[in-house]
Amino acid sequence: MQTQIRYQKGVGPKLASILSKIGIETVEDLIYYFPREYEDRRDPVQVSRLELGKDALIKVEIVKVSASRTKRNFSITKGTVKDASGSIKAIWFNQPFLIRVLKPGTPIYMYGKLERDPYSGEVMFNPRDYEIISSSNSGDLIVPKYPLTEGITQRMLRRIIKLALNEGLKNVHDPMPDPIKEKFKLEELQWSILMLHFPSDLKLVESARRRIAFDELLRFQMGLIYNRKKADEGKGISFGIEGGLINKFKSKLPFEFTGAQKRVLDEILSDMKSSKVMNRLLQGDVGCGKTVVALYAMVAAVQNGYQAAIMAPTEILAGQHFAKIKSLVDDIGIEVCLLTGSKKDTRKETLKKLKDGIPLIIVGTHALIEGTVEFSRLGLVVIDEQHRFGVEQRMELREKGKNLDLLVMTATPIPRTLALTLYGDLDRSVIDEMPPGRTKIITRYVSENERAKLYEFIRGQIKLGRQCYVVCPLVEESEKLDLKAAEEEVKLLKKVFPEYNVGLIHGRMKGELKGKVMSEFLDTSIKILVSTTVIEVGIDVPNSTIMVIEHCQRFGLSQLHQLRGRIGRGSEQSYCFLVGEASSGSAKARIDAMLKTTDGFKIAEADLKLRGPGEFFGARQWGLPNFRAADIIRDEDIIREARSAATMLLQSKVSLQDFGVKFWGSKLE
Ligand code: ADP
Ligand code: MG
Repeated sequence: MQTQIRYQKGVGPKLASILSKIGIETVEDLIYYFPREYEDRRDPVQVSRLELGKDALIKVEIVKVSASRTKRNFSITKGTVKDASGSIKAIWFNQPFLIRVLKPGTPIYMYGKLERDPYSGEVMFNPRDYEIISSSNSGDLIVPKYPLTEGITQRMLRRIIKLALNEGLKNVHDPMPDPIKEKFKLEELQWSILMLHFPSDLKLVESARRRIAFDELLRFQMGLIYNRKKADEGKGISFGIEGGLINKFKSKLPFEFTGAQKRVLDEILSDMKSSKVMNRLLQGDVGCGKTVVALYAMVAAVQNGYQAAIMAPTEILAGQHFAKIKSLVDDIGIEVCLLTGSKKDTRKETLKKLKDGIPLIIVGTHALIEGTVEFSRLGLVVIDEQHRFGVEQRMELREKGKNLDLLVMTATPIPRTLALTLYGDLDRSVIDEMPPGRTKIITRYVSENERAKLYEFIRGQIKLGRQCYVVCPLVEESEKLDLKAAEEEVKLLKKVFPEYNVGLIHGRMKGELKGKVMSEFLDTSIKILVSTTVIEVGIDVPNSTIMVIEHCQRFGLSQLHQLRGRIGRGSEQSYCFLVGEASSGSAKARIDAMLKTTDGFKIAEADLKLRGPGEFFGARQWGLPNFRAADIIRDEDIIREARSAATMLLQSKVSLQDFGVKFWGSKLE
C-alpha cells in the first residue's frame, strides 16, 4: 500500500509526477482517490430523441470522419455518427489525432450537447467526453468521474486505478473488529473501496461511502480522544490565581468584566488552578471581550513565574494584540514581546529571553512554532482565531512546553457537530454577552446613485472626530488585482476628500509598513483607511465607526459579518454601508440578512442555508484533515457514531497504528 506510485503498473515517472499534483504519492493514495460523480451508461439517449442544449450520453457508431485546418492553422475534425434511430454531426476542435482514432465503423460512447448552428445544422461541438467501446470496457456501465489535473484524462486514471485495485485491493487490511462493524452496520472495507470506484449499481454507492467516511471520522476522533486522554493523564501546572500582579491588573483595567466574561474567567482559572492540563475553547462573537479574558489568564501565568504565549493568524493582528496588551500591562511591570516573521530587530533578544525562561507575555504569529524558537518556562498558550490554524499547529505550539495549559479562542459560531469534530478534545466556554455601552450598528444598503450622499455623510462624521474603513472588493483569486482595486480606491477617495489623509493597508505589505499605517490610523492622523480584506480578522480601533464595503455582492455573508465586527466597538454610533449591485438573488439575500441582524449565530445559520455546507465549511479553512469521503456537515450522524465507536475502540485497547490514527506531539504508544 505504501509503495511509491511510480512503481505501480502502468505508471512511469512522468505520470507519477502528474499524480502527485493531485495528492497521489502511494498506491494507497490512488486506491483512496475517489470519483466525484458517475456517468450512468445503462440508458443512452437515442440520437433521434436528443434535445437541443441538453447534455446527453449517446451510444453510436462512427460513419465517417474528415480532418481539415482553418487559415489560422486551427484543426477541425468533422464526423458523422449514427445509431439505429438516426445520425448527427460532431465537430472537434484542435484534436487532430482523432482522425487516426475514430475510424468508420468504430462503436463509441459520446457525451455532449446538441446545438444548432447556421453553418452545420444540428451538431455536437467538442463533445465533453467520448470513449471507444472495446471488449475490455463494454461492461462498464457506471463509469466513475474523477477530479483531474492537467496531463491526465479520465480514461488514464480509470485504467491505473483498475490495475491498482486488481492487484492491491487484497492487501487492504481492515482493522475494524466485527462487533463494531455489526453494531454500526458497516460494509466491508474492500467491498466499499471497490464500489466507490466501480459500483455495480448506483444504489450501493452511499453505503460504500458511509463506510469510508466512517473510517476517516473515526480515525480523526480516535486521535483527538487519545490526545485528550494523554493530556489529562499528564500532571499539569497548578497555577496560583492570586497575587500582586493579578491585583494590579484588575485595578488598572478600565472597565468591569461582563457577567459572561466573569463566568468564563472562573472556568478558565479553575482549570489553571487544578493540576489537570487545561484544554479549553473560548467562543464568542467578535468584540465580546475574549482577548481581555485571555490576558487575565496570561497575567496569572506570569504571576506564577511562567511564560505565556498568544498566537494570532496574521502579523497585523499580532501587532494589534501586542500594542493592546502592552498598554494594559506595561505599567504593572510585565514584559511583553513580539515575535513575527518580519520583526527582525528584536528577534535575537526575544529568543534569548524565551530560552532563559524569563517570565513574560509573548505575542506572535506562526513564527512561534518554528523549530528555532525554544521556551524554557512556557506555561500557558493562547491561540486566537483558531479556525485559521489546523489541529496540528495547535499541537505544535503546545509541544513547546511541558503539560502546559491551552486556551483556544474563536469568534466563529460553529454548529455543535462541527464543534465536536473540530474541538472534540476541548472543553467549551462561551461568552454570549457584549460589553455594555455598545451602540447597535446601523447597517444600510447604498446604491450607486447615492454615493455622493454617502461621502457627504462620511465627511460630517469625520468632522465630528470619527474615522472610517473602506473595504475593497475581492476582484479575483489574485492578490495583485485586489491590490490594484484598492490603490484605485485610494486615488478616488483622495480626490473626494482632499482635506483628509487617506491610508492604504493590504495583504502584500511589509510588516513594518503595515505597522506604521496602523499606528497612524490609531493616532487618527489617517482618517480613512482603505484596505483589502486583511482587516477581516481582529483589528480593534474603537474610534473608527464607519465601514464602507464596496462591491458588497462579492463577499460571503459570514465575511461581511466579520468585517462589520470591526466597528461598533466604542460608545459612538457606528454605521456600516454596503455599496454595490444587488443584482443576483443570493446577493440580495445576503444584504437582507446583514440589514436584519447583527447576531453572529443567526448570520452563520443564514449563511449555511444560502451557500450550502460545502462552501461554508471548506475543510481546509477549518484546519481539518483532507477527508476523502466524509462531509463534515452532511455526515452529522456518522460523526456521532464514529465518536462513540472511537471511545469503544480506545477502551478495548486496539492498536492505534492499525487504524492509522495520527497523533500530534509525542509518540504513539
Ligand atoms: P474579542 O477578542 O472577543 O474580539 P476584545 O477582547 O478584543 O474582543 O474586546 C473588544 C473591545 O472591547 C476591546 O476594546 C476591549 O478593551 C473592550 N472590552 C472588553 N471587555 C469589555 C468590558 N467588559 N467592558 C467594556 N469594554 C470591554
Ligand atoms: Mg479578538
